[in-house]
Amino acid sequence: MERVHFDVIVVGAGPAGVTAAAGVARTGASVLLLEAGAYAGAENWSGCVYFAENLVHPDAFGPEAMDGAPFERAVVRRGIGATDGDTMVGMSHQDASTFQHCYTVLRPAFDPWWAERARQLGATVMPGTTVTSLIRRGGRVAGVHTERGPAYADVVFLAEGDASHLVRYEGLERVQSPDFMQGVKVVLNLPASEIDRRFGLAPGEGAAWELMVRNPSLAGRSLHLNMGAFLYTNRDSLSLGYVVPLSNLAKNFKGNHEDLLAWVRTLPGIAEYVEGAEVSAFGTKLIRTGGLTQAPILVEDGLAVGGSACGLGIDIPCPNFTGPASATGLYFAQAFRDMARTGKPPSAANLTALYLDRLRQSRY
Ligand SMILES: Cc1cc2nc3c(=O)[nH]c(=O)nc-3n(C[C@H](O)[C@H](O)[C@H](O)COP(=O)(O)OP(=O)(O)OC[C@H]3O[C@@H](n4cnc5c(N)ncnc54)[C@H](O)[C@@H]3O)c2cc1C
Repeated sequence: MERVHFDVIVVGAGPAGVTAAAGVARTGASVLLLEAGAYAGAENWSGCVYFAENLVHPDAFGPEAMDGAPFERAVVRRGIGATDGDTMVGMSHQDASTFQHCYTVLRPAFDPWWAERARQLGATVMPGTTVTSLIRRGGRVAGVHTERGPAYADVVFLAEGDASHLVRYEGLERVQSPDFMQGVKVVLNLPASEIDRRFGLAPGEGAAWELMVRNPSLAGRSLHLNMGAFLYTNRDSLSLGYVVPLSNLAKNFKGNHEDLLAWVRTLPGIAEYVEGAEVSAFGTKLIRTGGLTQAPILVEDGLAVGGSACGLGIDIPCPNFTGPASATGLYFAQAFRDMARTGKPPSAANLTALYLDRLRQSRY
């Protein structure tokens, strides 16, 4: 690594990391954005309806930032329903202004665009670089070890995502076994015009369906699965998947995910929309849940933890995890700006007052 000291190091180029890097770069400070994947988004497998309200905040990428962004469709219609597998009750609401800032995206295409915008704002972006541990000196976090050598900073923003490996290895967990959900998704190819017809959309408009699945029966057996299924319209494909608490899955389902996904395809409220669409990609990831009661230690001297490693997310009425994740990036950048302006060091006390309090007071 050529330059080894930065004002800020951000670990992870997901929604939290890119928002933080952009916001810090805007202040004129030096920021290094480290991403383990070959490129930002390479390892990301969200649904995804991306909540972009924090990306377009003036303290992050700015109001014009969505112009030219490679989202799939702008969401104008959302539906929620509940099913036991045989019958379904639900409703949908169509109004573009209600779903302002909601976009369907394919993360491997969407995320690199934001990392590049962060680079244009002045961040140093290093993909293909895994952070292996934090560097601690004199009782504070002073940088990170990576597979490509160490890098140092006044403050590290750890935004490594749901699995939160570093959070655990660095002793930041406050509960032994935080709650996780399993998220599984396939991309199903379907021509854009057929998507428009099936969902009643104009070209470019997007729809997102969410289904609560409660105690269904599968192959004649009753399953005590409490899952959420989702169906999102991309440009010329659909994202279909489900999320289910790991504890619930382990207790109540012994089969494999392909069977579960094949069955989700047949659910009322989904089957008619996905008929004939062919699978082009499959993936699965963990989603950390648990909220603030299971949040790890979020600040130390020289360290702030952000993004989905905090376990923050909104389930009802629509899953919103990208919003809280990017909010932590925004609040961290604002906290950094305020500390820099007033000459305060990034101590645990100052990060609590300026970063965590913003998060606590937010709607997330
Ligand atoms: C199937 C599924 C569907 C979902 N659908 C939705 C949805 O519709 N709407 C929604 O809002 N949310 C959804 N989510 C959740 C959403 O994906 C996450 O909440 C969000 O991506 C969290 O953002 P983040 O920036 O915290 O982490 P991430 O997006 O996971 O980004 C973390 C980044 O850090 C990198 N990284 C990890 N460890 C290291 C390391 N040691 N060194 C360097 N880099 C590292 C990773 O490669 C990754 O790029 C879904 C999740 C799943 C699994």
